Amino acid sequence: MSERGLLIVLSGPSGVGKGTVRKAIFERDDNDFQYSVSMTTRQQRPGEVEGVDYYFRSREEFEALIEAGEMLEYAEYVGNYYGTPLSYVRQTLDQGKDVFLEIEVQGAKQVKDKVPDGVFIFLTPPDLAELRSRITGRGTDSAEVIDERMRVAREEIEMMALYDYAVVNDEVPKAVDRIREIISSEHFRVDRVIGTYIKMLEEL
Ligand code: 5GP
Repeated sequence: MSERGLLIVLSGPSGVGKGTVRKAIFERDDNDFQYSVSMTTRQQRPGEVEGVDYYFRSREEFEALIEAGEMLEYAEYVGNYYGTPLSYVRQTLDQGKDVFLEIEVQGAKQVKDKVPDGVFIFLTPPDLAELRSRITGRGTDSAEVIDERMRVAREEIEMMALYDYAVVNDEVPKAVDRIREIISSEHFRVDRVIGTYIKMLEEL
């Protein structure tokens, strides 16, 4: 019996550690998720590999793909476009594999509208005070900059209501375990499997 794969969306406020948790998930030996490599117009950082970390594209190329309807979602974040190419996601889900997106909150909202049966996981800091220390701990920014980051983070946390699960990122391995448990259980939901059983009955 082949089921369609699950679309898993990991998002959350900036600075919460989405990228770190995502990398830790994919470093597990028995990881079964397929990572959807995002496209971005930002500069490639040292050590980043084209097609592995991101597809690095010009603004013109990115905008042409938006126009052509080839992005599942996209957002502008700190002056650059980030987005999820649609074709990989579609093909991989059709093959019955689970596709994993790690994206910021504006993009996650678009995916929720388009693919409501995805699994939406919101990564949270242990508490706002902890988030504040992470935000201030990044460098020697002014109080205004820090307050602005806090305001943005508060807004993002309010967006949690759109998600199915909230996973606390207190320790990365624990957050990874929680996410894997969520996905295992999601596969057993009746609404995900009943279609297969009904089809089987019809074919008897
Ligand atoms: P960075 O530039 O540090 O790699 O990523 C910046 C932010 O962009 C992170 O919050 C990351 O989750 C988000 N991001 C990465 N890929 C995508 C994408 O395809 N779509 C959206 N909406 N955000 C993304």
